[in-house]
Formats: sequence, C-alpha cells, structure tokens
Amino acid sequence: MTDKKIPMVDLFAQYQSIKNEIDRAINTVIKESSFVGGRFIEQFEIDFANFCGTKHAVALNSGTDALYLSLWALGIKKGDEVITSPFSFFATAEVISRFSAKPVFVDIEPNTFNLNPDQIKKNITSKTKAIIPVHLFGRPANMKKIMKLAIDNSLFVIEDACQAIGAKYKEQKVGSLGDIGCFSFFPSKNLAAYGDGGAVVTNDQNLAESIKKLRNHGSATKYKNESIGVSSRLDGIQAAILLAKLPHLNRWNQSRRQIAKKYTQLLKGFVVTPSEDDNENFSVYHQYTIQIKNGRRDRLKDYLSKNGVSAMVYYPIPLHLMPALKDLGYKPGSFPIAEKASSEVLSLPIYPELSMAKVAQIAQLIKGYVQTS
Ligand SMILES: *Cc1c(COP(=O)(O)O)cnc(C)c1O
Repeated sequence: MTDKKIPMVDLFAQYQSIKNEIDRAINTVIKESSFVGGRFIEQFEIDFANFCGTKHAVALNSGTDALYLSLWALGIKKGDEVITSPFSFFATAEVISRFSAKPVFVDIEPNTFNLNPDQIKKNITSKTKAIIPVHLFGRPANMKKIMKLAIDNSLFVIEDACQAIGAKYKEQKVGSLGDIGCFSFFPSKNLAAYGDGGAVVTNDQNLAESIKKLRNHGSATKYKNESIGVSSRLDGIQAAILLAKLPHLNRWNQSRRQIAKKYTQLLKGFVVTPSEDDNENFSVYHQYTIQIKNGRRDRLKDYLSKNGVSAMVYYPIPLHLMPALKDLGYKPGSFPIAEKASSEVLSLPIYPELSMAKVAQIAQLIKGYVQTS
C-alpha cells in the first residue's frame, strides 16, 4: 500500500506471509513448462474435490464459466426458466440469459441476503429447470428447504458458491449439496488465484466429464472434437498457486470469522450487523456487511473514505433492475427486500491479515458517525 488507507482486501500482505511457497510454486511451473493442463491442474482437482467433500472437481478459467458450463452440461436451453436471487453479482443471472433461458428472480431474506425459499414455490412453472442459490458474502443459503423444493419438482440445483469456499451448511461444505457447485478464484475471493480462475465440483461423474469436455473445445481426446465447446481452462501457474494456498484456507477463514465476531461485538446496536451463525450454517465472511438506514449509507461510506478506510457497496443495483436485463420486465418494487438491501448495505474491510486494532479503529469511526450524524 502506498498510503495508509485500510483497503477492502490486502493481497500483497497475504503474498508476503507465504512468499516462499508461492515463489517456489510459480518457479516449478516455469521450470516444467506446465502451463496448460499437466500435473498441477490434476493435483488441484483432486485436492479441491477433497476439500469440498465431492468426488470430482473440474478446474476452469473463472467462476462465471463454472456457472455457464454447468447450465450447458445440464442442458439448459432457450425458453427454460431458472430461479435465482436478484441480490448477487451480475454473472449469476447473465449466464442464464446466454442460453436465451429466462432468469426468474425471487426475493431474498432480509437477515441473510440469500434466496428466500418460501418465495420459490409460487414461481415454479412447467418451464422451470433449475434453481441457482447464491451463498452470498460467504453465508450458506437455506439448502434444506431449497433441496426439498428441487427434489419435489425435479429441478437441478447449481450452487453459486463463488463467495463461500469452505463455508458449511449443517457440517457439509457448500458446493457439495446440490447437483453442481461453482467456485471462483478471482483475486479478491477467499481462495484467490493471481488472475482469473474457477472450478465446479460434483458427485456426478457424467457431469464432470461433460464439463471437462466443454472447457476444452468439446474434446476429451486431442484433436477429436465431439461437440461444440469453449476454451475455459485454468492455467498451470494458477493451479500451482492455488495448491500452495489451499492448506492455509481453513486458517484464513477462521481469521475472517474472528474479525467478523469482533466487528459485531463492537457495532451491535449502532448499525444492523450480519445475523450470526446458527447450527445450520458456518459462514466464511467473504464480506462483512452492515446495514444503515435513512439514506445515510453513502454518507458513511464517504466519511470512512475521508478517514482512510475503504468500504464498498455490494451491490448497488439489484439484478432485476440491471439495464442489461430490462427485457425481463421487472420494475422497482418487484423485490422490495433486495431493493432495500441495495440501498442500505455497506461492506467493511475484511481479510485474514487485518489486525484487530484496525478493526477496532474502523468500528470506532462508524460508532462516532452514527452517534453524531
Ligand atoms: C465472483 C462471483 C462470480 C463470478 O466469478 P468470476 O471468477 O469473477 O467469473 C459469480 N457469482 C458470484 C456470487 C461471485 O461473487
């Protein structure tokens, strides 16, 4: 960092803490010229599947492609409907539209920001093929109710676990509960590559093989293309970096949880703090997101910035009001809970290397603001 501003995430601090392991990993890939395919990819797929508790993992070039190739492998096509959350990163809905299928949004729960399962049932039609729950900010969605609805109505479940690597729902890792779990290794995610990266996990061998083919121009055997696919492989260098980082992930996620606990201790009663874990979920706090009402959110963000603290709004526009999706015909008021969240949420700096002293400093600023404004 050039100035003293507390960032949302400090990637260089993490690098410094495991510099030798990362440098060795990168150098080995270069020495072996194992840039595309090769042993680092194969090993990462084994280790990542083990980590998630699934039989298979397929490494891809992004979380977006993990979602995209999942829908493709499941046969989603024009006219199909896929139910998902309006409060997520754009990619969650974008991938549905790429098949000319229709994203069908249902509102979220106010306390978890995740898909409200009680809103799903009335939106299931004869065209509905799948549900994409998003484990937003690292908190597992209510998978028990979602899986029951999916089973009762013969729908696929694709978990968007891009923000929730290592999170658990009732002792089970997210990504392993539905038909396919999708992950992102984008540099700001809890397990981060040094560039783009992603993966799917599944217990279904046929799905894993289909996605392996799709990521490589529809070919399982070199220069024998059996179907149309794309080029969406993870680089060898990224796989080696992720392999070096994976053994640290549980510790990093624990640090995030401790930071979150501290924020909540200090901020409870001053702003709306994230609902805490119950015995159904184990969050990994990709984001620590508070809510502050009455249009004061943007002023608090500016105030923090002036005082050397970054804060971000994830997400300022709910997906049903995105210009790119206006043809779906949703209007302001369609999903009041998601719209309210968009106007009130503020995510604070959280990363494993963030010191408790800085957490206290940030909390103090917020309390000062709330008390005097
Ligand atoms: C990051 C993210 C994605 C997309 O992942 P990329 O690797 O950036 O393509 C999808 N969904 C959610 C919820 C995400 O946070």
